[in-house]
Amino acid sequence: MRFKGPAHEPTHPLALRAAVPAERTVDAFVEEFLENLNYVQGVALPRSTINDQYLALAMTVRRYLMTDWMNTARRRRGAPSKMVGYLSAEYLLGRQLGNSLLAADLYDIAREAMNQCGISIDALRAQEVEPGLGNGGLGRLAACFVDSLATLDVPSIGYGIRYEYGMFRQTFVDGRQVERPDSWLFLGSPWEFPLPDRAVEIHFGGHTESTTQDGQEITRWLPAWNVQAIPYQLMVPGYRNGVANTLRLWSARATREFDLHIFNSGDYEEAVRAQTFAENITKVLYPEDSTPQGKELRLQQQYFFVAASLKDYIEQTLPDDFDLHNLPDQIIWQLNDTHPVIAIPELMRLLVDEYGLPWEEAWDITSRCFAYTCHTLLPEALEVWSVDILGRLLPRHLEIIYRINDEFLESVRERFPGDEDRVRRMSIIQENPRAVRMAYLATVVGTKVNGVAELHSQLLRDKVLPDFSEMWPEKFTNVTNGITPRRFLRLSNGRLSDLITETIGEGWETDLERLRELEPYADDAAFRQRFRDVKEANKHRLRDLLITRDNFALPQGQMIDVMVKRLHEYKRQMLKLLHIVTLYEGLSTGRLTPEQVTPRTFVFGAKAAPGYFMAKEIIALINAVGKTINADDRFNEILTVAFPANYNVTLAEKLIPAADLSEQISLAGKEASGTGNMKFALNGALTIGTDDGANVEIRQLVGDDNFFLFGMSEPEVAALGEQGYVPRSFYEGNDDLRRAIDLIASGAFTDRDGSKAWTVVGDLLNNDRFMVLADYASYIEAQGRVDAAYADYESWTRSAILNVARCGFFSSDRSMHDYMARIWGIGQG
Ligand SMILES: *Cc1c(COP(=O)(O)O)cnc(C)c1O
Repeated sequence: MRFKGPAHEPTHPLALRAAVPAERTVDAFVEEFLENLNYVQGVALPRSTINDQYLALAMTVRRYLMTDWMNTARRRRGAPSKMVGYLSAEYLLGRQLGNSLLAADLYDIAREAMNQCGISIDALRAQEVEPGLGNGGLGRLAACFVDSLATLDVPSIGYGIRYEYGMFRQTFVDGRQVERPDSWLFLGSPWEFPLPDRAVEIHFGGHTESTTQDGQEITRWLPAWNVQAIPYQLMVPGYRNGVANTLRLWSARATREFDLHIFNSGDYEEAVRAQTFAENITKVLYPEDSTPQGKELRLQQQYFFVAASLKDYIEQTLPDDFDLHNLPDQIIWQLNDTHPVIAIPELMRLLVDEYGLPWEEAWDITSRCFAYTCHTLLPEALEVWSVDILGRLLPRHLEIIYRINDEFLESVRERFPGDEDRVRRMSIIQENPRAVRMAYLATVVGTKVNGVAELHSQLLRDKVLPDFSEMWPEKFTNVTNGITPRRFLRLSNGRLSDLITETIGEGWETDLERLRELEPYADDAAFRQRFRDVKEANKHRLRDLLITRDNFALPQGQMIDVMVKRLHEYKRQMLKLLHIVTLYEGLSTGRLTPEQVTPRTFVFGAKAAPGYFMAKEIIALINAVGKTINADDRFNEILTVAFPANYNVTLAEKLIPAADLSEQISLAGKEASGTGNMKFALNGALTIGTDDGANVEIRQLVGDDNFFLFGMSEPEVAALGEQGYVPRSFYEGNDDLRRAIDLIASGAFTDRDGSKAWTVVGDLLNNDRFMVLADYASYIEAQGRVDAAYADYESWTRSAILNVARCGFFSSDRSMHDYMARIWGIGQG
C-alpha cells in the first residue's frame, strides 16, 4: 500500500556531497543568467524580451536557493523530528522575485549583474504577476507563517491548492467593479517544480459496503470516480539562514483510467468532457462570500487537497516501516480555518479502512494529530456542509463523522446527564437543514483550538463555542496573528529599513523586538527629520506608481489616509465614505472653511466578492463620490479620493509605506484580528481604529497617545443590539450625518438619479447591521483629533516612530513561537 522507493537506488560518490552553492559574485551571476537565457529560454540577450529576462533572472536566483533547499531536506532526513503540516486552502504569496533575492542576500549582486547587461532589475520585478492564491487576510497569514517557519528553521511543510486562476483581477467600468480572470500562469511560472510522476489518486462519490471478517465489521468505500493530484513544489526560503522549506500545492488532472475507460467506449467528446470535469477542481479560487452555487465544487477542492496531502505524507514522507501509532510524535496538522477540516475523517478512514487499525486506536491517533485555528466570530459564517452533498461526494466520511458525533454526544450526556438541550446545541450534525458543522468537528477532534487575537479568542470561548470551552477549557488558547517583517518592512520599505539598520544595527529583521531600541530616537529632532524624509520619498514612489498604473495624479503635500482590505460591510468602508462626504458637504455649503480642513488624500483599495451585491454597490458609490470630488476644482488642494483598482499584495507593498493614517474601523467584535493594521503601524502610520481584533493589542503596545480610538466597545455593541438598534434615530439625531446621507441620497454623486445611491443609504437607514450610524459621531470626533495631531507634525512624527518601535510583537516569528509553545509541542528547530 505504501509507496516503495526503487529497489535499486542509483548512486555516485559525487551525489553524496552537500549541494554546492554557486559563486556569489557579479561575474558568476551574469554567467548563470546568460546560461538560463540562452539554454532555458532559448534566446540571445539582444533579442530577449522583458519576460525572457525575468524568467532567466528568476531561474538564476532559484539556482542559488536550491542548494539551501536540498541541504535542508538532507539535514532533516538525517535527524527526523516532529514536524508541522500547515493545511491551508489559500496562500496569498505576493511576488516571489524580490523576496527570493532578499532571502538569498543577492539583491546587490543581481542589480549590478543586470546593470552590466543593460537591464533594469526594477522592470523585471514589475514583470512578475503575483500568485494570488488567496482572498485576503487568511491567505496572506498562511504566506507569512510559512516565511517565518523557514526563517526559524522549523521542520514544516505547507500544503495547499494550485489554482489555475487565483483571486480575480479587479477593474472598474463606470466606477463599477468588473472581474477579470487572473491568468497568473500565462507567461510562465519559474518558481514551481511540477512532479507529475508523484501524483496521488483521489477518490469521490460511490457508496460503502460493510462485511464481517473474523467477527470484525469491515467497511469499504467503493468510490465512483477519481482524479489525480499532481504536486507542484515551491521553495520557501528562510531569511539568510541557508534554509528553504517546501510549499506543496496540488493540481487536479484526469486519471488515465478515467479517460481511457470512456475513450474506449468510443466517445471521444465524452472523454474530453470528463477530463475537463476532473480538472475543474483546481481551476479557480472561490471568492469569499460568494453565492452557494458551486459549493459542491468547493467541497471537492477541500477534500482533494487534504486527501492528497495526508496520502503524500504517510506514503511518501514517512519511512516504509513506520508504525502509525507513533504518528502524533511525527506530525501536527494545523488547520487554517475550517476549509481543511475534512482531513479529520480522512485520517480516520485511512487508519481504519486502509491500514486496518481498530477504531479506538485510530481515534487515539487522530485526536492528537490536529489543531484548529478559528478565524471568524459570526456564528453564521461557520462553515457547514449539507449532509446531502457530503453523503453524495464522500459517503464513507459522512459515516465516520456520524460515529465521531455519536461517541462525542455520549460523552456529553455522561458529563451533563439529562441536558438534552446541550446535546442538541453541541451536536456536530445540525438539524434543519441537516448539515455538518465543520468548526465543531475540528473542536471536538483537535488537540487545541485557537483564536487569532486576544479579544477574538475570548469571544470565541464566550460566544461562539461556549459549550465546548466549558467542556474543555484547556483546549482553548490564543495566538495573536503576525506579519513577516521581511516582506512588509525590509522588502517593501527599503528606505525605512536602511534608516533602522543605520540607527540600531543589523539583525532586527529576525529579532523584531529590537525595534524598541528606536524609542529614544523619537525625541531626536534630526532622526525625526530623516524619518519624515523616508515617508516623503515613499509618497513619491507611490505617486510614480499610480501615474503609470492608474493614470492617477496623487497630489503633493496632503495627508495620506488609507483603508485597504476586502470590501465587507463589517469592515465599514461606508464610515470612511461618510466622513469624506461630511467634509465635502460642509465645504460646499460654506459651513466649513478650507482652513478648517486638513488637506487629505483618502485612499481606498478593496475587492468585493463577485456575488456580494451590497459590497459592489459600495464600491460604485465610493467611485462616484471620488469622481465628483476630484472634479470639483474648488477643493483640489484639500480633498482627493483615490481608489486604485485591484488591491493585492504588490499594491499593499507600495501603499502601506506611504500612509500617514491607517483606517481600522470595523464594528467591535467583528474583525477576528486583522493583519493590515499591523503592517501600517510597523511602517509608521498612526491608526484610527475601534477596539477590535488586534487593534486592541496595537493600542496597548503603542500607547493611547499614539492611537486614535473611537467607537463602541464590543460589550456596548452587544448591549445596543439587545436593546434594539434603530439606525434612523442616529440619522435624525445628528445634523452632519443627516446632511451627508441626504446629499448621497439626492443623487449628487451619480450621473443618473439618486435611486442607485439609495440601495446603500436605504440599507444604512433601515438595517445597518454593522452599526455605521451609531459610531459615526464618535468617528468624526476622532478624525478631529487626527487633524489636530497632524497639525503638529513634529509630535505626529514622534508618535509614528513610537509605533514602529513598539510593534515588534507583531512579527509572525513571534506567532510561530507561540504556536510551537502553546499548540504544537515542539521546541525551536
Ligand atoms: C494584509 C492583507 C490583507 C488583510 O488586510 P486586513 O486589513 O487585515 O483585512 C488583505 N489583502 C492583502 C493583499 C494584504 O496584504
